[in-house]
This record gives sequence, C-alpha cells and structure tokens, in this order.
Amino acid sequence: MREIHLHNTLGNKLEVFTAQQSGCVKMYTCGPTVYDYAHIGNFRTFVFQDILRRFLKLRGYQLDHVMNLTDVDDRIIANAAAAGVSIREYTEKYAQAFFDDCKTLSIEAPEHWIRATDHIAEMVALIERLQQKTFTYPSEGSIYYRIAKFPTYGQLSNIDVAGIQAGARVDNDRYEKESARDFALWKAPKPGEHFWETAIGKGRPGWHIECSAMAMKYLGETLDIHTGGIDLAFPHHENEIAQSEGATGKPFVRYWLHAEHLLVEGEKMSKSLGNFFTLRDLFGKGYKPSTLRFALASVPYRKQLNFTFDGLQSAASSVERLRNFAARLAQGKFPAGRNALLAGRIAEATDEFDAGLADDLNTARALAAVFDLVREVNIAMDKGEFREAEVVPVQEFLAVFDRVFAVMEDNDGEKLRALGFGGDSGPSDAEIEKLIAEREAARKRRDFTTADRVRKELAERGILLEDSRDGSVRWKRK
Ligand code: AMP
Ligand code: ZN
Repeated sequence: MREIHLHNTLGNKLEVFTAQQSGCVKMYTCGPTVYDYAHIGNFRTFVFQDILRRFLKLRGYQLDHVMNLTDVDDRIIANAAAAGVSIREYTEKYAQAFFDDCKTLSIEAPEHWIRATDHIAEMVALIERLQQKTFTYPSEGSIYYRIAKFPTYGQLSNIDVAGIQAGARVDNDRYEKESARDFALWKAPKPGEHFWETAIGKGRPGWHIECSAMAMKYLGETLDIHTGGIDLAFPHHENEIAQSEGATGKPFVRYWLHAEHLLVEGEKMSKSLGNFFTLRDLFGKGYKPSTLRFALASVPYRKQLNFTFDGLQSAASSVERLRNFAARLAQGKFPAGRNALLAGRIAEATDEFDAGLADDLNTARALAAVFDLVREVNIAMDKGEFREAEVVPVQEFLAVFDRVFAVMEDNDGEKLRALGFGGDSGPSDAEIEKLIAEREAARKRRDFTTADRVRKELAERGILLEDSRDGSVRWKRK
C-alpha cells in the first residue's frame, strides 16, 4: 500500500505518516466552544477531521480519537452570567445542538467525546506538575505559565518571541500573535463568577490547559495527530505544547494538522456583514445536509474554502449525479459478460482515489477520480457497452468512496425532520420500488389506467420515471 503523506504544521512540511503503535492512531481534535451554535466555518474543520479519520479507518487503522467540548471559557462565563444560569445549564443546549449537527453532517462520533468541566481535577494535577518544575508563577490569585522557561516556545507557529518582555502577561483565552505573553493556566475568580475550589486555589482553568490535560489523560503523553482550524495554531496549540512538554519532557504531538478557514463569498464570516451561517440557517433555506457535507469536503483542507451559494448548488448536483448513477447501476439491465477496458478503468480509478487521499487528503483529486469514472461508465451504458460483470466492481468502488465522503445514502429528509425542519423529502427508496413494481404488474396485465395513476402519484411526490429501451425502469428524485 502506498504511504500516506500529511502536512505537519510543526516543521511546515509533508511527512510520511506512521503511527507509534502499529495499527492504532491516537488523535485529538479541539472541539467547539459551546457558547453558541457552531457555524459552517467550524464545520469545515470538523468535516476535515472526519475525512481524515474515515480515510485512516479505510486504510485499516483503528482510531483512538478524542474530541472535547470547551464548556468553560471567557465567553461562556460571560454569557452564562448574563443569562443568570449555571455554566452547565447554559452550555447544555449548544452541546446537544453540536452533537445533532455532527450527526446530520454524518461526522462520526469520536471514541471519546468529553467535556472540559468534567476534567478540572486533571487540569489541576497538570498545573501542579508544572508548578513543581517551576514553569509557573502566581499573580493576584491567578497562575501563569512562564514562556521564557520553555526555549522552543513559538516553534509551531513560528512567532518570534525574542522581543517579548519576561513577565508580561495576558489574561484573555484568545489573543493576537503580537501579544504573545505569559498566559494564564488558572484564573482567579472575578466577583460573581463561577469558580472551583481546588488544591491550587479558587478559580477556573484557562482554555489551553484543558486540551493538554484531557489529551494526555486519554491518549498518553505523545499523540500521533492533533487537529484544529489554523487560527488555533497560535496561541492555543503553541500553549498546549508548552504545557504538555514542560510537564513531561516528551514530544506532545507527532503530526499537527490545521485546516484553513472558510470564507463566505470571499469575505471573513461575520454577523455584522450578514454572511454568518449556522447549519440550521442553511437547512432553513432548503439546502440538504449531504449538499453541505459535500461542499465542505470537496476543497482540500489546506486551501481556503470560498463558500458561495453557486458552489452549494453545484455540490447539490454533484451528489445527485452520484446517487442517480448508483440507482442506474442498481436498476439497469446490462448485457451479460465483461468489458475488459472498463474493468481496467475501475481498478485505475480505485487506485487514483486512494492516491488523492494519501496525498495530504487531496479530496479534489480523489473526487476527480470518482467523477471521471462515473462519466465513462455512463457513456458506456448509453452506448450499450457496459456489461453485467462490471456492476459489482463499480458498486464496490462507490462504497469505498462513500466510506470517506458519506453522501450516498438518500437520508436528507429524515435528518432534516430529526432537526425539526418539515422538509418532506418524498417517499423512501423502498416505497418507490414498491410502486414501480405495482406499475409494472399493471402494465403487464394491460391495466394502463392503474399504471398511469402510479406514475402520476410518483411524479406528484417528486419522483420521475424513465422507461429505458432495455425494458427496465429508472427513477430519480426531481
Ligand atoms: P471554536 O468553537 O471557536 O473553538 O472553533 C472550533 C473549530 O472551528 C476550531 O478548530 C477553529 O479553528 C475552527 N474554525 C473557526 N472559524 C473557522 C472558519 N471560518 N473556517 C474554518 N474553521 C474555523
Ligand atoms: Zn484545544
């Protein structure tokens, strides 16, 4: 099998991927901060990590994957206080919405889905370890990490720390590169704020310590892969490295993978520009989950993704094209025998699909392999040159494709209804097949009134029938 190449932000180069323990990948993904609904930019990153885990599984790796929910940070504390509710109460709704959104986008559940607030003890223990090794100092009830004590600070994001004054501190969880400073591991409570009573004092954890503590609890001191959006490389991941390696003296992560951002019509998404979308905003406009997943997955993760409504339309027709193709394969009647030329092309497409994904998850290249084959097979079918023996190999190829892209199953209507969107997606495949069989039986007994009625009923419910020359009936959703 060919090697998998992944771009490591640490060192900024493509590297051959190997797992520490053969056959098992230890991976950590920074999950959402559950202070609001996640937006489509967030889902760009979550779909990327899902494509990564699905491809690794396709290659036979077992995944040991942790995703956290950041359910305590500056924004959550402020919003919960403003709403007059506890942190758990405030975040519960958004945590649930995130799980539902992931399911809707066919993002696989990681092996461990965990919450920061369930791991305060582990964070405190890690801070104590750092205290013992003198990486910390107290100030006004808070505890800070002394970055001057960690000489390789800045290695991930390549920031220059030379000009930074020792002892200059920053309290915000999120800050700009220009303000690289000693950061808070533990924050003293402000009046009226929620706090935990612990061995290191009253307070609450900073954002960065949670990921170090939780990743190492579940995955050990050295992980194989750590993912997130590119904005997390600094300061979040830089600080994770400083904390974890400061405490253990061992490399924290072997491969750092970061997804570039999603832009909307070329601009940064922002509420004030009116170009800010959650999944639910788009479902409300009538877009399907599979359309969104396809649109987010189709641009390789290290390229900025320019999200446009034209792009969404073309994603919708791509998915429809694939589903119609699968239906044509399943329903068509083809002459017996094989077509050696096409058999060779199926093998090549399968190999090219793998080569695309092994090339730092080049999803565009992998998809080109799929659509090239679909086009060739459709042409062969039109010319009557497609043979029965190729049906199963093409179906197997589509199944491999779908283990990674997960858009073939026609379950958008169900998913939307589960989220409370009315969207009647029409009859199920089984119901359609049953009605078509009824129509066939009616035609055989020359009961054309019934046959026409069934055709009309299907048309009214959005299903178009096409009688092909070979006597079989194909159908598609309008
Ligand atoms: P947050 O909830 O803000 O911690 O973000 C969750 C994930 O979404 C992180 O990995 C971020 O880097 C990522 N993210 C945030 N904005 C975007 C965007 N516009 N495009 C892609 N990923 C993003
Ligand atoms: Zn994190």
